[in-house]
Amino acid sequence: MKLITSRVKGINDILPEKVGSWQTVERIAADSAAVYGFKEIRIPTFENTELFVRSVGDTTDVVQKEMFTVMGRESRFTLRPEGTAGVVRAVLENGLLNNSMPQKLYYLINCFRHEKPQAGRLWEFHQFGCEMFGSASPDADAEVISLAKSVIDRLGLRDIELHINSIGCPHCREEYYKALRGFLEPHKEELCDTCKSRFDKNPMRILDCKSDICREISSGAPIMVDYLCDNCRTHFEGLKARLDAMGIEYTIDPKIVRGLDYYTKTVFEFITTSIGAQGTVCGGGRYDGLIEIMGGKATPALGFAMGIERLLLTLKNQGAVLGEERQCDIYIGSMGDAARQRAAVITRSLREEGFWAECDVMERGVKAQMKYADKLDAAFSVIIGDNELENGTAQLKNMKTGETIELPIDDSFTTRFTDIRTADMIAE
Ligand code: ATP
Ligand code: MG
Repeated sequence: MKLITSRVKGINDILPEKVGSWQTVERIAADSAAVYGFKEIRIPTFENTELFVRSVGDTTDVVQKEMFTVMGRESRFTLRPEGTAGVVRAVLENGLLNNSMPQKLYYLINCFRHEKPQAGRLWEFHQFGCEMFGSASPDADAEVISLAKSVIDRLGLRDIELHINSIGCPHCREEYYKALRGFLEPHKEELCDTCKSRFDKNPMRILDCKSDICREISSGAPIMVDYLCDNCRTHFEGLKARLDAMGIEYTIDPKIVRGLDYYTKTVFEFITTSIGAQGTVCGGGRYDGLIEIMGGKATPALGFAMGIERLLLTLKNQGAVLGEERQCDIYIGSMGDAARQRAAVITRSLREEGFWAECDVMERGVKAQMKYADKLDAAFSVIIGDNELENGTAQLKNMKTGETIELPIDDSFTTRFTDIRTADMIAE
């Protein structure tokens, strides 16, 4: 077979056999968000490019290298590389911050980043994310981290470590930047090109660079937590105390500075060693300055995003099985035109009651139909032919035990079948 074109590298098909595990992740994420009081928001797939340049920040890899931008008739649009910018825009544009605080929102979205495709790093990937607006208290940080942890635990992920850090506020960061620039200055020319450009504008991002040389240069650099102002220090201490009280274990990791420019104070990641280099399954933090940058009234805010492909990859590598396949309840075979029609009518009635019922649409012979029923692993089957039509009854067969029972093939079939299937499921 020769297709006219193939799949673009870096994007994936999610085939029916995999969809069950996706649905499980989505359900657990949505259920957990709901009990924490987060409401779903659905945002558009693309926005004005300006939105991401301004909010994600022009010193980030995302803006500098990874955005998929398309030219419209008059202006440029970018496929969302993450969810926070779009959520903040939507929240401001629709006046959601005029409602009672806190505002708690979650989303399940696809995102687009032009990176080197590899395991856990795709051009199109999916995120479950949460954002909370209105609270400056470490109570909110602890609640958001607790929600992320709850999703990870309910999925049954093992060996995931929570790393936390504080990157302070613009006020204390200035002092820190001076110290950091002083430390890096002698090696400035050896830094990668991206980091050279970060040196003046956002030197902390150099600590997050993936290039070996930058990593080596920055090892032993001064760390932000040693420079926190009183307000930021008290906040960080408050968060640690709350996590301790909740029994949520964490490591303080000065290397966590997060990829995006808008973070303040708390930053965190959930990291696993089960999937190789792309080990961050969830990243988040506080972004108290963003709402104002975007033109709203200064409002503290925070959130996180989980990469669904990385969650699934971790689960797979840890041997976890997600999502049960639904079983076909009944296959209604038939012989002859009149019987086919009766089979289709009964099938429809069963489906209206919520059963997965199947009948032949391939015009196969009865033997081939039964082979297909076996493939579907149908729990029950029945065959309708001329004799059955004449008698008004047919033999319902339990495919597992081989037991049969005579049932009327009229309007009462669905009710009778409901009782039998329910009893059978209880017995299982
Ligand atoms: P990384 O350092 O791995 O590039 P990041 O800091 O760019 O991650 P975030 O912007 O914090 O990632 O996005 C949140 C989560 O989304 C990540 O922790 C990861 O699980 C997932 N993610 C990010 N980029 C990709 C990608 N290209 N493909 C698949 N998942 C991704
Ligand atoms: Mg990245």
